[in-house]
Amino acid sequence: MPRPILATVHPAALRHNLARARQAAGDAQVWAVVKANAYGHGIERVFDALRAADGFALLDLAEAERLRALDWRGPILLLEGTFEPRDLELCSRLNLWHVVHREEQIDWLAAHKTHQPHRVFLKMNSGMNRLGFRPEAFRAAWTRLNALPQVEEITLMTHFSDADGLRQGREGVLYQVEAFVRASRDLPGERSLCNSAATLRHALALRLGDDDAAPALAADWVRAGIALYGSAPDHPAHSAADWGLQPTMTLSSELIAVQHVPAGETVGYGSTYTAAQDMRVGIVACGYADGYPRHAPGGQTHGAPVLVRGVRTRLVGRVSMDMLAVDLGPVEAATGPCRPGDEVVLWGRSAHGTVLPVDEVAHAAGTISYELLCAVAQRVPFQIDPA
Ligand SMILES: *Cc1c(COP(=O)(O)O)cnc(C)c1O
Repeated sequence: MPRPILATVHPAALRHNLARARQAAGDAQVWAVVKANAYGHGIERVFDALRAADGFALLDLAEAERLRALDWRGPILLLEGTFEPRDLELCSRLNLWHVVHREEQIDWLAAHKTHQPHRVFLKMNSGMNRLGFRPEAFRAAWTRLNALPQVEEITLMTHFSDADGLRQGREGVLYQVEAFVRASRDLPGERSLCNSAATLRHALALRLGDDDAAPALAADWVRAGIALYGSAPDHPAHSAADWGLQPTMTLSSELIAVQHVPAGETVGYGSTYTAAQDMRVGIVACGYADGYPRHAPGGQTHGAPVLVRGVRTRLVGRVSMDMLAVDLGPVEAATGPCRPGDEVVLWGRSAHGTVLPVDEVAHAAGTISYELLCAVAQRVPFQIDPA
């Protein structure tokens, strides 16, 4: 029998979350963001469930090729654009739309020979200071692009640094919406601003135009990533359940040993956890080499949450490379003695019906769900939930 760790992708939840994002997006079209191999789920595993999206956004050219190999004929957007001039040949051949965020990318386009003009997303650095033209340079970039025969259509785009909450006491998108609108007001073309957080948090404004940011946010394309994968973009302010999102990945394993630990003894490397009283500890076939965060804390009060037989308990001691330890107390109190072979859910959905949001595990480990989903290791086998 193979080692019992397993990642399960839930297509029904992906479909549900896409519908949820679409509902929040109002009239805008929805990019399904599938970068980083669909946030660790596997592009081929999510493709069928997400093909109702209006397009797929990613940044790796090899991933774009994989989507075309799946026979996706619709839009594909390269979120970081081209990295070198010859990438444009692939854009022409596979009909990829691409972001233009710096001057050289325009130079390359101007020198590119193509029969089919390209659709580009011109990116403004409206305050995040990662990618894009500064507001004062945006119009000149647009004018240059617009004059090129290689360019068919220009969509105006920006990306938010603080869409998940407040910044200096105001909604975090506002400082950038203001900069974006000021610098692009009279330029023609479609707009794309919102990620998952902005789409969900401003859903009402998108539909009704009833807040300061609404007219700008109610743009033509939203770029939904993490919401499709069932996590709250603004956890812990909101949970996935608050947003009506369902988990799309379950990381599960089994107990492979049960230890009786007398009071005063310790568990695991570094002896960081001491049993306050006699206790039973379950050893789980999952460790940091599977992608589980080594920094997830073990302990009675703030141990990272885990489900055993669908009952919530917590880590004890340090996560090791291939194993971790859990307190079986709450589980045995609810369901009787545990044995090797019992189901353990590190995040996602238990066969017993309970859900452990990946957001809560990430929070306990001092990170975000994105990182955990993307980090599931190569050695973990995947299956697609037939339900
Ligand atoms: C990753 C990414 C998104 C999606 O962000 P989520 O927070 O996952 O919704 C949107 N736009 C750009 C430019 C991105 O890089």
